[in-house]
Amino acid sequence: MDLTFSPKETAFRDELRAWLAENQPDVEPLDGGEDAHYAWRRDWQRRLYDAGWAAPAWPTEYGGRGASLTESAIYFEEIGRARVPFAANTLGLLLGGPTLMVWGTPEQKERYLAPILSAEEIWCQGFSEPDAGSDLASLKTRAVKDPEHPDQWLVTGQKVWTSGAQYSKWCMLVARTDQDAAKHKGLTYFLMDMEQDAVQVRPLRQITGESEFNELFIEEARIPDANVVGGVGNGWKVALTTLMNERAGLGFALQIRLRQLLDDLIAAAAERGLLEDPRYADALAELHVRCESIRLLAWKGLTDAERYGQPGPEGSLVKWLWSDTNQRLTELAVDIIGPEALTAGTPWSYEFLRARGNTIEGGTTEVLKNIVAERVLGLPRLKVAA
Ligand SMILES: Cc1cc2nc3c(=O)[nH]c(=O)nc-3n(C[C@H](O)[C@H](O)[C@H](O)COP(=O)(O)OP(=O)(O)OC[C@H]3O[C@@H](n4cnc5c(N)ncnc54)[C@H](O)[C@@H]3O)c2cc1C
Repeated sequence: MDLTFSPKETAFRDELRAWLAENQPDVEPLDGGEDAHYAWRRDWQRRLYDAGWAAPAWPTEYGGRGASLTESAIYFEEIGRARVPFAANTLGLLLGGPTLMVWGTPEQKERYLAPILSAEEIWCQGFSEPDAGSDLASLKTRAVKDPEHPDQWLVTGQKVWTSGAQYSKWCMLVARTDQDAAKHKGLTYFLMDMEQDAVQVRPLRQITGESEFNELFIEEARIPDANVVGGVGNGWKVALTTLMNERAGLGFALQIRLRQLLDDLIAAAAERGLLEDPRYADALAELHVRCESIRLLAWKGLTDAERYGQPGPEGSLVKWLWSDTNQRLTELAVDIIGPEALTAGTPWSYEFLRARGNTIEGGTTEVLKNIVAERVLGLPRLKVAA
Protein backbone atom coordinates (compact mmCIF):
# COMPACT_ATOMS: atom_id res chain seq x y z
CA MET A 1 0.00 0.00 0.00
CA ASP A 2 1.59 3.26 -1.16
CA LEU A 3 -0.10 6.34 0.31
CA THR A 4 1.87 8.84 -1.80
CA PHE A 5 -0.37 10.66 -4.27
CA SER A 6 0.64 10.78 -7.94
CA PRO A 7 0.96 14.24 -9.58
CA LYS A 8 -2.49 13.69 -11.14
CA GLU A 9 -4.05 12.85 -7.77
CA THR A 10 -2.37 15.83 -6.13
CA ALA A 11 -3.68 18.12 -8.89
CA PHE A 12 -7.17 16.68 -8.39
CA ARG A 13 -7.00 17.34 -4.64
CA ASP A 14 -5.65 20.87 -5.10
CA GLU A 15 -8.34 21.78 -7.63
CA LEU A 16 -11.09 20.55 -5.31
CA ARG A 17 -9.54 22.20 -2.24
CA ALA A 18 -9.31 25.51 -4.09
CA TRP A 19 -12.92 25.22 -5.25
CA LEU A 20 -14.15 24.41 -1.74
CA ALA A 21 -12.19 27.35 -0.35
CA GLU A 22 -14.00 29.68 -2.78
CA ASN A 23 -17.40 28.02 -2.66
CA GLN A 24 -19.07 27.41 0.66
CA PRO A 25 -22.73 26.43 1.10
CA ASP A 26 -25.12 29.13 2.28
CA VAL A 27 -25.44 29.55 6.04
CA GLU A 28 -27.13 26.47 7.52
CA PRO A 29 -30.80 27.36 8.23
CA LEU A 30 -31.71 27.31 11.92
CA ASP A 31 -35.44 27.80 11.29
CA GLY A 32 -37.82 25.93 9.02
CA GLY A 33 -37.11 22.44 10.36
CA GLU A 34 -35.98 19.48 8.32
CA ASP A 35 -37.58 20.69 5.09
CA ALA A 36 -35.50 23.88 5.14
CA HIS A 37 -32.41 21.87 6.00
CA TYR A 38 -33.01 19.47 3.13
CA ALA A 39 -33.61 22.35 0.69
CA TRP A 40 -30.28 23.81 1.84
CA ARG A 41 -28.47 20.53 1.05
CA ARG A 42 -30.27 20.27 -2.28
CA ASP A 43 -29.13 23.74 -3.18
CA TRP A 44 -25.57 22.80 -2.22
CA GLN A 45 -25.74 19.77 -4.52
CA ARG A 46 -26.82 22.01 -7.40
CA ARG A 47 -23.73 24.14 -6.84
CA LEU A 48 -21.51 21.08 -6.74
CA TYR A 49 -23.21 19.90 -9.93
CA ASP A 50 -22.71 23.21 -11.75
CA ALA A 51 -19.00 22.99 -11.02
CA GLY A 52 -18.77 19.29 -11.96
CA TRP A 53 -18.20 18.14 -8.36
CA ALA A 54 -21.49 16.34 -7.57
CA ALA A 55 -20.15 12.85 -8.36
CA PRO A 56 -16.59 12.90 -9.70
CA ALA A 57 -16.45 9.08 -9.61
CA TRP A 58 -19.15 8.83 -12.30
CA PRO A 59 -17.79 8.31 -15.81
CA THR A 60 -17.53 11.46 -17.93
CA GLU A 61 -20.21 10.16 -20.34
CA TYR A 62 -22.72 10.37 -17.47
CA GLY A 63 -21.61 13.78 -16.25
CA GLY A 64 -18.88 12.78 -13.77
CA ARG A 65 -15.10 13.22 -14.01
CA GLY A 66 -14.18 9.55 -14.34
CA ALA A 67 -12.23 9.85 -11.08
CA SER A 68 -10.16 6.83 -10.04
CA LEU A 69 -10.85 5.07 -6.74
CA THR A 70 -8.04 7.02 -5.08
CA GLU A 71 -9.36 10.32 -6.44
CA SER A 72 -12.81 9.38 -5.22
CA ALA A 73 -11.40 8.75 -1.74
CA ILE A 74 -9.63 12.11 -1.91
CA TYR A 75 -12.96 13.70 -2.86
CA PHE A 76 -14.72 12.36 0.24
CA GLU A 77 -11.79 13.24 2.49
CA GLU A 78 -11.80 16.81 1.21
CA ILE A 79 -15.59 17.15 1.53
CA GLY A 80 -15.24 15.94 5.12
CA ARG A 81 -12.23 18.20 5.81
CA ALA A 82 -14.07 21.29 4.49
CA ARG A 83 -16.99 20.47 6.84
CA VAL A 84 -19.51 21.01 4.07
CA PRO A 85 -22.67 18.86 4.00
CA PHE A 86 -23.14 15.75 1.88
CA ALA A 87 -25.03 16.32 -1.35
CA ALA A 88 -28.79 15.93 -0.74
CA ASN A 89 -29.27 13.06 -3.18
CA THR A 90 -26.71 10.83 -1.47
CA LEU A 91 -28.58 7.59 -2.16
CA GLY A 92 -29.05 8.44 -5.83
CA LEU A 93 -25.43 9.48 -6.30
CA LEU A 94 -23.77 6.65 -4.37
CA LEU A 95 -26.23 3.78 -4.75
CA GLY A 96 -28.86 4.31 -7.46
CA GLY A 97 -26.66 5.83 -10.18
CA PRO A 98 -23.87 3.24 -9.89
CA THR A 99 -26.45 0.41 -9.84
CA LEU A 100 -28.04 1.70 -13.06
CA MET A 101 -24.61 2.02 -14.67
CA VAL A 102 -24.11 -1.72 -14.12
CA TRP A 103 -27.61 -3.07 -14.72
CA GLY A 104 -29.65 -0.35 -16.45
CA THR A 105 -30.72 -0.36 -20.09
CA PRO A 106 -29.41 2.48 -22.33
CA GLU A 107 -32.87 4.08 -22.07
CA GLN A 108 -32.82 3.94 -18.26
CA LYS A 109 -29.36 5.48 -18.10
CA GLU A 110 -30.45 8.22 -20.50
CA ARG A 111 -33.62 8.94 -18.52
CA TYR A 112 -32.49 8.75 -14.89
CA LEU A 113 -28.80 9.56 -14.44
CA ALA A 114 -28.76 13.28 -15.24
CA PRO A 115 -31.59 14.27 -12.83
CA ILE A 116 -29.86 12.33 -10.02
CA LEU A 117 -26.70 14.35 -10.55
CA SER A 118 -28.45 17.72 -10.64
CA ALA A 119 -30.68 16.90 -7.58
CA GLU A 120 -33.72 17.46 -9.76
CA GLU A 121 -35.03 14.00 -8.80
CA ILE A 122 -34.23 12.56 -5.38
CA TRP A 123 -33.92 8.79 -4.83
CA CYS A 124 -34.62 6.57 -1.83
CA GLN A 125 -33.93 2.92 -1.04
CA GLY A 126 -36.98 0.72 -0.39
CA PHE A 127 -35.32 -2.49 0.77
CA SER A 128 -36.08 -3.04 4.50
CA GLU A 129 -39.47 -4.25 5.69
CA PRO A 130 -40.90 -4.83 9.18
CA ASP A 131 -39.83 -8.52 8.97
CA ALA A 132 -36.90 -8.22 6.60
CA GLY A 133 -33.80 -6.22 7.51
CA SER A 134 -30.57 -8.15 7.92
CA ASP A 135 -32.30 -11.07 6.21
CA LEU A 136 -33.41 -8.93 3.29
CA ALA A 137 -34.23 -11.86 1.00
CA SER A 138 -37.18 -12.77 3.21
CA LEU A 139 -39.05 -9.62 2.11
CA LYS A 140 -42.77 -9.94 1.39
CA THR A 141 -43.71 -6.91 -0.74
CA ARG A 142 -45.10 -8.49 -3.90
CA ALA A 143 -45.42 -7.38 -7.49
CA VAL A 144 -47.84 -9.03 -9.92
CA LYS A 145 -48.64 -8.27 -13.54
CA ASP A 146 -51.79 -6.19 -14.05
CA PRO A 147 -54.09 -8.52 -16.06
CA GLU A 148 -55.56 -5.52 -17.90
CA HIS A 149 -52.20 -3.92 -18.70
CA PRO A 150 -49.67 -6.72 -19.21
CA ASP A 151 -46.81 -4.24 -19.53
CA GLN A 152 -47.43 -2.99 -15.97
CA TRP A 153 -46.85 -4.33 -12.46
CA LEU A 154 -48.99 -3.79 -9.38
CA VAL A 155 -47.01 -3.63 -6.14
CA THR A 156 -48.41 -4.13 -2.65
CA GLY A 157 -46.57 -4.25 0.67
CA GLN A 158 -44.85 -2.27 3.38
CA LYS A 159 -41.34 -0.86 3.58
CA VAL A 160 -39.74 0.71 6.63
CA TRP A 161 -36.76 2.93 7.56
CA THR A 162 -36.87 4.46 4.07
CA SER A 163 -34.51 7.42 4.45
CA GLY A 164 -35.47 10.57 2.57
CA ALA A 165 -38.67 9.03 1.12
CA GLN A 166 -40.55 12.26 1.87
CA TYR A 167 -38.34 14.12 -0.63
CA SER A 168 -38.01 11.37 -3.22
CA LYS A 169 -39.31 11.02 -6.73
CA TRP A 170 -37.91 7.50 -7.26
CA CYS A 171 -37.59 4.49 -4.99
CA MET A 172 -35.18 1.58 -5.57
CA LEU A 173 -37.67 -1.08 -4.65
CA VAL A 174 -37.06 -4.81 -4.29
CA ALA A 175 -40.23 -6.90 -4.47
CA ARG A 176 -41.14 -10.57 -4.77
CA THR A 177 -42.36 -11.44 -8.27
CA ASP A 178 -42.28 -15.24 -7.97
CA GLN A 179 -43.87 -16.70 -4.84
CA ASP A 180 -42.75 -20.26 -5.68
CA ALA A 181 -39.07 -19.62 -6.40
CA ALA A 182 -36.35 -19.98 -3.75
CA LYS A 183 -36.13 -16.96 -1.43
CA HIS A 184 -33.21 -15.22 -3.20
CA LYS A 185 -34.45 -16.08 -6.69
CA GLY A 186 -38.01 -14.74 -6.87
CA LEU A 187 -37.08 -11.06 -6.44
CA THR A 188 -37.12 -8.17 -8.91
CA TYR A 189 -35.59 -4.70 -8.64
CA PHE A 190 -37.88 -1.84 -9.71
CA LEU A 191 -37.78 1.92 -9.94
CA MET A 192 -41.04 3.01 -8.35
CA ASP A 193 -42.49 6.47 -8.93
CA MET A 194 -43.24 7.85 -5.46
CA GLU A 195 -45.68 10.40 -6.85
CA GLN A 196 -48.80 8.23 -6.92
CA ASP A 197 -51.67 7.87 -4.43
CA ALA A 198 -50.94 4.17 -4.04
CA VAL A 199 -47.73 5.07 -2.17
CA GLN A 200 -48.21 6.60 1.28
CA VAL A 201 -45.18 7.97 3.12
CA ARG A 202 -45.41 8.22 6.91
CA PRO A 203 -42.45 9.79 8.73
CA LEU A 204 -40.96 8.00 11.76
CA ARG A 205 -39.60 10.20 14.50
CA GLN A 206 -36.12 9.27 15.68
CA ILE A 207 -34.45 9.68 19.07
CA THR A 208 -32.81 12.88 17.72
CA GLY A 209 -36.26 14.39 17.09
CA GLU A 210 -35.79 14.28 13.31
CA SER A 211 -37.77 12.18 10.86
CA GLU A 212 -34.93 11.14 8.61
CA PHE A 213 -36.72 7.94 7.65
CA ASN A 214 -40.26 6.75 6.94
CA GLU A 215 -42.67 3.90 6.58
CA LEU A 216 -44.00 3.26 3.07
CA PHE A 217 -47.46 1.78 2.67
CA ILE A 218 -47.87 0.54 -0.89
CA GLU A 219 -51.28 -0.53 -2.18
CA GLU A 220 -51.29 -1.59 -5.83
CA ALA A 221 -48.71 0.95 -6.93
CA ARG A 222 -48.16 0.90 -10.66
CA ILE A 223 -44.73 0.26 -12.18
CA PRO A 224 -44.22 -0.17 -15.94
CA ASP A 225 -42.05 -2.98 -17.34
CA ALA A 226 -39.64 -0.30 -18.51
CA ASN A 227 -38.75 0.33 -14.83
CA VAL A 228 -37.50 -3.18 -14.09
CA VAL A 229 -33.74 -3.00 -13.50
CA GLY A 230 -31.58 -5.99 -14.44
CA GLY A 231 -34.40 -8.33 -15.50
CA VAL A 232 -37.34 -10.03 -13.79
CA GLY A 233 -36.18 -12.51 -11.10
CA ASN A 234 -32.68 -11.01 -10.95
CA GLY A 235 -33.41 -8.57 -8.11
CA TRP A 236 -31.08 -10.15 -5.55
CA LYS A 237 -28.00 -9.63 -7.72
CA VAL A 238 -29.00 -6.06 -8.55
CA ALA A 239 -29.67 -5.33 -4.85
CA LEU A 240 -26.20 -6.65 -3.96
CA THR A 241 -24.68 -4.09 -6.34
CA THR A 242 -26.58 -1.36 -4.47
CA LEU A 243 -25.50 -2.71 -1.06
CA MET A 244 -21.84 -3.03 -2.06
CA ASN A 245 -21.83 0.60 -3.12
CA GLU A 246 -23.51 1.59 0.16
CA ARG A 247 -20.62 0.38 2.31
CA ALA A 248 -17.87 1.49 -0.06
CA GLY A 249 -19.02 5.06 -0.74
CA LEU A 250 -19.09 7.05 2.44
CA GLY A 251 -16.27 5.41 4.41
CA PHE A 252 -13.69 8.08 3.69
CA ALA A 253 -15.90 11.05 4.54
CA LEU A 254 -17.04 9.36 7.75
CA GLN A 255 -13.55 8.65 9.05
CA ILE A 256 -12.56 12.29 8.47
CA ARG A 257 -15.69 13.47 10.33
CA LEU A 258 -14.76 11.13 13.19
CA ARG A 259 -11.29 12.69 13.32
CA GLN A 260 -12.77 16.20 13.38
CA LEU A 261 -15.15 15.27 16.16
CA LEU A 262 -12.23 13.86 18.14
CA ASP A 263 -10.21 17.05 17.58
CA ASP A 264 -13.21 19.09 18.83
CA LEU A 265 -13.45 16.86 21.90
CA ILE A 266 -9.72 17.16 22.64
CA ALA A 267 -10.09 20.96 22.40
CA ALA A 268 -13.08 20.85 24.78
CA ALA A 269 -11.09 18.69 27.23
CA ALA A 270 -8.14 21.10 27.03
CA GLU A 271 -10.42 24.09 27.74
CA ARG A 272 -11.62 22.34 30.89
CA GLY A 273 -8.07 21.41 32.01
CA LEU A 274 -8.92 17.70 31.67
CA LEU A 275 -5.96 16.65 29.54
CA GLU A 276 -3.87 16.43 32.72
CA ASP A 277 -6.29 13.86 34.11
CA PRO A 278 -4.98 10.40 33.10
CA ARG A 279 -8.51 8.98 32.82
CA TYR A 280 -9.43 11.41 30.05
CA ALA A 281 -5.97 11.48 28.50
CA ASP A 282 -6.00 7.65 28.19
CA ALA A 283 -9.50 7.55 26.76
CA LEU A 284 -8.70 10.26 24.19
CA ALA A 285 -5.43 8.56 23.25
CA GLU A 286 -7.26 5.29 22.66
CA LEU A 287 -9.73 7.07 20.39
CA HIS A 288 -6.82 8.65 18.51
CA VAL A 289 -5.29 5.20 17.88
CA ARG A 290 -8.66 3.88 16.71
CA CYS A 291 -9.14 6.82 14.33
CA GLU A 292 -5.72 6.22 12.77
CA SER A 293 -6.39 2.47 12.42
CA ILE A 294 -9.70 3.15 10.72
CA ARG A 295 -8.08 5.63 8.33
CA LEU A 296 -5.38 3.13 7.35
CA LEU A 297 -7.88 0.28 7.03
CA ALA A 298 -10.03 2.45 4.73
CA TRP A 299 -7.02 3.07 2.49
CA LYS A 300 -6.08 -0.62 2.57
CA GLY A 301 -9.63 -1.50 1.49
CA LEU A 302 -9.24 0.89 -1.41
CA THR A 303 -6.01 -0.80 -2.51
CA ASP A 304 -7.81 -4.15 -2.49
CA ALA A 305 -10.72 -2.70 -4.47
CA GLU A 306 -8.23 -1.40 -7.07
CA ARG A 307 -6.59 -4.82 -7.24
CA TYR A 308 -9.72 -6.97 -7.39
CA GLY A 309 -12.07 -4.55 -9.17
CA GLN A 310 -14.67 -4.38 -6.39
CA PRO A 311 -14.87 -3.50 -2.68
CA GLY A 312 -13.92 -6.47 -0.51
CA PRO A 313 -15.31 -7.66 2.84
CA GLU A 314 -12.81 -5.39 4.67
CA GLY A 315 -15.30 -2.55 4.13
CA SER A 316 -17.42 -4.27 6.77
CA LEU A 317 -14.54 -3.98 9.25
CA VAL A 318 -14.25 -0.22 8.62
CA LYS A 319 -17.98 0.33 9.05
CA TRP A 320 -18.08 -1.72 12.26
CA LEU A 321 -15.05 0.03 13.81
CA TRP A 322 -16.20 3.49 12.71
CA SER A 323 -19.70 3.12 14.21
CA ASP A 324 -18.37 1.59 17.43
CA THR A 325 -15.71 4.31 17.80
CA ASN A 326 -18.22 7.07 17.09
CA GLN A 327 -20.44 5.78 19.90
CA ARG A 328 -17.49 5.58 22.33
CA LEU A 329 -16.42 9.09 21.35
CA THR A 330 -19.84 10.65 21.84
CA GLU A 331 -20.25 8.86 25.20
CA LEU A 332 -16.89 10.26 26.36
CA ALA A 333 -18.07 13.69 25.16
CA VAL A 334 -20.94 13.50 27.64
CA ASP A 335 -18.42 12.90 30.47
CA ILE A 336 -16.14 15.70 29.32
CA ILE A 337 -18.72 18.34 28.40
CA GLY A 338 -21.25 17.55 31.09
CA PRO A 339 -25.00 18.27 31.13
CA GLU A 340 -24.82 20.55 28.08
CA ALA A 341 -24.06 17.46 25.96
CA LEU A 342 -27.34 15.96 27.12
CA THR A 343 -29.45 19.05 26.46
CA ALA A 344 -31.71 18.77 23.42
CA GLY A 345 -30.72 21.03 20.54
CA THR A 346 -26.99 21.19 21.28
CA PRO A 347 -24.53 19.82 18.68
CA TRP A 348 -23.03 17.29 21.12
CA SER A 349 -26.42 15.92 22.17
CA TYR A 350 -27.28 15.46 18.48
CA GLU A 351 -24.00 13.57 17.88
CA PHE A 352 -24.59 11.42 20.97
CA LEU A 353 -28.13 10.46 19.99
CA ARG A 354 -27.55 10.05 16.24
CA ALA A 355 -24.59 7.73 16.88
CA ARG A 356 -26.99 5.09 18.24
CA GLY A 357 -28.29 4.32 14.73
CA ASN A 358 -24.79 3.99 13.27
CA THR A 359 -24.45 0.39 14.42
CA ILE A 360 -27.73 -0.55 12.67
CA GLU A 361 -27.87 1.37 9.35
CA GLY A 362 -26.00 -0.05 6.36
CA GLY A 363 -25.59 -3.46 8.08
CA THR A 364 -25.77 -4.13 11.82
CA THR A 365 -22.57 -4.65 13.78
CA GLU A 366 -23.46 -8.31 14.50
CA VAL A 367 -23.93 -9.03 10.80
CA LEU A 368 -20.70 -7.21 9.93
CA LYS A 369 -18.84 -9.22 12.57
CA ASN A 370 -20.12 -12.40 10.93
CA ILE A 371 -18.80 -11.18 7.56
CA VAL A 372 -15.41 -10.31 9.04
CA ALA A 373 -15.21 -13.66 10.87
CA GLU A 374 -16.11 -15.73 7.83
CA ARG A 375 -14.70 -13.79 4.90
CA VAL A 376 -11.71 -11.90 6.36
CA LEU A 377 -10.53 -14.28 9.09
CA GLY A 378 -11.74 -17.46 7.33
CA LEU A 379 -13.47 -18.82 10.45
CA PRO A 380 -16.13 -21.52 9.97
CA ARG A 381 -19.72 -20.43 9.31
CA LEU A 382 -22.05 -20.27 12.27
CA LYS A 383 -24.21 -23.41 12.41
CA VAL A 384 -27.65 -22.89 13.92
CA ALA A 385 -28.97 -26.02 15.68
CA ALA A 386 -32.15 -27.39 14.09
C1 LIG B 1 -30.58 5.59 10.38
C2 LIG B 1 -31.07 4.43 9.55
C3 LIG B 1 -31.37 4.61 8.20
C4 LIG B 1 -31.85 3.55 7.42
N1 LIG B 1 -32.16 3.79 6.10
C5 LIG B 1 -32.67 2.79 5.34
C6 LIG B 1 -33.09 3.03 4.00
O1 LIG B 1 -33.00 4.15 3.49
N2 LIG B 1 -33.62 2.00 3.28
C7 LIG B 1 -33.74 0.75 3.80
O2 LIG B 1 -34.19 -0.15 3.08
N3 LIG B 1 -33.36 0.48 5.09
C8 LIG B 1 -32.84 1.47 5.87
N4 LIG B 1 -32.48 1.22 7.18
C9 LIG B 1 -32.75 -0.09 7.73
C10 LIG B 1 -31.51 -0.94 8.01
O3 LIG B 1 -30.93 -1.39 6.81
C11 LIG B 1 -31.99 -2.10 8.90
O4 LIG B 1 -32.40 -1.54 10.14
C12 LIG B 1 -30.89 -3.10 9.13
O5 LIG B 1 -30.62 -3.82 7.96
C13 LIG B 1 -31.26 -4.10 10.25
O6 LIG B 1 -32.50 -4.69 9.99
P1 LIG B 1 -33.64 -4.73 11.11
O7 LIG B 1 -33.80 -3.36 11.68
O8 LIG B 1 -34.81 -5.40 10.52
O9 LIG B 1 -33.05 -5.64 12.28
P2 LIG B 1 -32.95 -7.23 12.29
O10 LIG B 1 -32.34 -7.70 11.01
O11 LIG B 1 -34.26 -7.78 12.68
O12 LIG B 1 -31.92 -7.45 13.45
C14 LIG B 1 -32.29 -7.42 14.83
C15 LIG B 1 -31.08 -7.80 15.66
O13 LIG B 1 -30.65 -9.14 15.33
C16 LIG B 1 -29.30 -9.14 14.93
N5 LIG B 1 -29.10 -10.12 13.84
C17 LIG B 1 -29.85 -10.26 12.74
N6 LIG B 1 -29.35 -11.25 11.95
C18 LIG B 1 -28.25 -11.73 12.59
C19 LIG B 1 -27.30 -12.76 12.27
N7 LIG B 1 -27.37 -13.47 11.16
N8 LIG B 1 -26.29 -12.97 13.16
C20 LIG B 1 -26.20 -12.23 14.32
N9 LIG B 1 -27.08 -11.26 14.67
C21 LIG B 1 -28.10 -11.01 13.80
C22 LIG B 1 -29.03 -7.73 14.41
O14 LIG B 1 -27.66 -7.41 14.49
C23 LIG B 1 -29.88 -6.89 15.38
O15 LIG B 1 -29.18 -6.66 16.57
C24 LIG B 1 -32.00 2.27 7.99
C25 LIG B 1 -31.69 2.07 9.34
C26 LIG B 1 -31.24 3.13 10.13
C27 LIG B 1 -30.93 2.88 11.58
